[in-house]
Amino acid sequence: MEIADGIHLIKNPHSTYFVSSVLIMGESLTLVDAGRVESPETSIYPAIKALGRDPREISLLVLTHAHWDHCAGAAQIKRETGCDVAVHSNGKAYLADPETVAKELTLRFPGVPAGNMAAFDAVDPEIVFSEGSTIALDGRELKVVHTPGHSAGSCCIVEADLGLYIAGDSIQGRGERRPLIFHDANAYLSSMNRLLGEPIEILVNGHPFPPSGEGVLRGEVTKRHVEESIKAVEELKDTVLEALGDSDGAVSLVEIHEAIGAFQPFTIGCILEALKAEGKATRETAGGRVLWQA
Ligand SMILES: [Zn+2]
Repeated sequence: MEIADGIHLIKNPHSTYFVSSVLIMGESLTLVDAGRVESPETSIYPAIKALGRDPREISLLVLTHAHWDHCAGAAQIKRETGCDVAVHSNGKAYLADPETVAKELTLRFPGVPAGNMAAFDAVDPEIVFSEGSTIALDGRELKVVHTPGHSAGSCCIVEADLGLYIAGDSIQGRGERRPLIFHDANAYLSSMNRLLGEPIEILVNGHPFPPSGEGVLRGEVTKRHVEESIKAVEELKDTVLEALGDSDGAVSLVEIHEAIGAFQPFTIGCILEALKAEGKATRETAGGRVLWQA
């Protein structure tokens, strides 16, 4: 799907929906996000060939963040094309050791299974960027807008001339299980408030987040998507606080998750941490269990 002249969205199949890659065509090819481990073979390379180009022309792979469904294809693409890989400094450790995401989540939220987030080969990035970094392509420039929250290294990769923001999972709308997972809920809200002031013309999401359910949003809809993302988290905070208030004494994260009946347990955990930081919830350890109370 063409996003702009020479810029294409590749929808890599992912569960019942998709994870986005963006192909930027110049003299060589730049790819933003590498999809799942099978994505190079099954969707990225075929899309490039269908556009009359050769996957071996990929000279740069930029990652919006280092979560498995966006970076698991990176090792194969790098091996087969010799491309440089670029990631935010906060994502480097996750690429070097794919176990890191699951390990950190297990430490923060004991008793919640971390799933298959380590299902990829390690990658050593050539380019490590940060807020405001620029990446020169032939005929274009990409700019990094650091939007932490979903993960500490989540970024929007921006083509400023077009107002094109490739957001990965930075702006999740009403994402719920696909995949409203935060590294830090209050950092996420700060990033959303910052993005309300950014000149976004075209927004490319990492997944077809509700309410739009589209990979590419344009014009005023982009702002509404950011506003919905803020509302979703504010409302979730209220819901969690209510569940805490309704419970008899201190409860575990898993119990609160079950009471609410939606969202990833990690999402609820991040909301609890945010409420704790605001003095609205307390965390205690009793009999080896971590318990929360309003
Ligand atoms: Zn992610």
